[in-house]
Amino acid sequence: MRALVMRLFLLSLLFSRILLFGASASEEFTVIIDPGHGGTHVTGTHLLKSNSSPNNATSPSGLREKDLTLELSREIQSALESEPGTKGAPAIKCILTRTNDWNPDFSERAKVAAEATNPAALVSIHFNTFAHGSALGTVAMIHCKERNPNHEADLRFADGLAASTSGAVRSFLPRSPVMDSINDYHIHDGTGAYLFYQMAKYPQLDAVPKCFLEVEFIDRRDVQKRLLDDRSETFPVIAKAIADYIAGYLREHPPGSVALSPANKDLDY
Ligand SMILES: [Zn+2]
Repeated sequence: MRALVMRLFLLSLLFSRILLFGASASEEFTVIIDPGHGGTHVTGTHLLKSNSSPNNATSPSGLREKDLTLELSREIQSALESEPGTKGAPAIKCILTRTNDWNPDFSERAKVAAEATNPAALVSIHFNTFAHGSALGTVAMIHCKERNPNHEADLRFADGLAASTSGAVRSFLPRSPVMDSINDYHIHDGTGAYLFYQMAKYPQLDAVPKCFLEVEFIDRRDVQKRLLDDRSETFPVIAKAIADYIAGYLREHPPGSVALSPANKDLDY
């Protein structure tokens, strides 16, 4: 009998250690950074709402958006992972949806987020063009209210992220404004952004703040000269502003702290 009690005691010790280690590992937040575009071909299909184009914007000197998104995303990853932890706040791990020049379709990008341990935020990094260089500024885009149970939190997250990013961009391009966040209704003739459509399939991502971040319009000579020609100077500053904002947001609003609102999650739109 005594041997049995001792054995049970040792077993319970073992289990409590497993639980303890499990808890400490699972306390780490994962931030998912999605470098927009990539590769040489369109992937996915419009029928499945997974279509991803290899490149959109190109700078006057020929720099491609798909390369800039990966370059900046890598900087954001290293800035996020060197964020100082505060007592009681979990550390941040950052994963990228792609780490080289290929083009995962939007179902593959969403799957990376869905399979992350404790997914806490997702930002899809892009650069913009508009009518031969006639626009300037930083803008974020979120999943529209009608289909998004986390719209209120997404709006707060995206507005703050765009403002913080814009502050860093303006240190090189003082005239660049920050714009109000836009919703994705206008994309694909009202279907919305395919990344949000794909992420909505996973309930564990409902409360994860998520947005696209269009860092700047790159089809302009002033942007080329001040922001892109010396990226070893500019990108770490922009990446740090993005990482500091995300880390601060998660300290204030840890995952699960914001109530979801009822929204149409019917995926047959
Ligand atoms: Zn893009």
